[in-house]
Amino acid sequence: MTILDIRVLGDQILRQAAVPVDVMTPDIQRLIDDMFETMHHARGIGLAAPQVGRTERLAVLDLGKDPFVIINPDIVLSSAGKAKGEEGCLSIPDIYADVERPKSVTVMALDRNMKPFQREATDLLARCLQHEIDHLDGKLFLDYLSVLKRTAALAKWKLQADDYPGYIRRVSLETPEDLDEHQHPDEEL
Ligand code: ZN
Repeated sequence: MTILDIRVLGDQILRQAAVPVDVMTPDIQRLIDDMFETMHHARGIGLAAPQVGRTERLAVLDLGKDPFVIINPDIVLSSAGKAKGEEGCLSIPDIYADVERPKSVTVMALDRNMKPFQREATDLLARCLQHEIDHLDGKLFLDYLSVLKRTAALAKWKLQADDYPGYIRRVSLETPEDLDEHQHPDEEL
């Protein structure tokens, strides 16, 4: 398995809608494995294909005990009740903000054998699913912030954007010690 580079804010691929997967291929199986590897190395809990420069409509998630992939996911039900929680993003390192989202969602997707499944989720898993599916629609958590908070987040981002030439974050060169010091490892998606 390979640890992939992560595309960071500014790379246009993060703003494009992903393309549904029609057939499973060995290449996509490898992509899924590499995405799990990359997400774990970066201590994230979710990672979507556009974040590693790919256009497939799929994402991987792992909140600690049950890693799974969602292929061609759709949110088929969202609760009226909302919840606010802090979010970060592997593609926007070190930037965190509170985002309000539906507290629970039901997602339909395919698994890595292209078998359909449905998943009801609440709290952190619901938040993570929504964040990843947003990535597949070209959307980022910054889009939910007020103008004031977004401007502040972007100003902070600007100070460190030079660390990622070509909008590329070389996760394979980062050590877990770096991550412990500078990040909230539980909240990056
Ligand atoms: Zn993200």
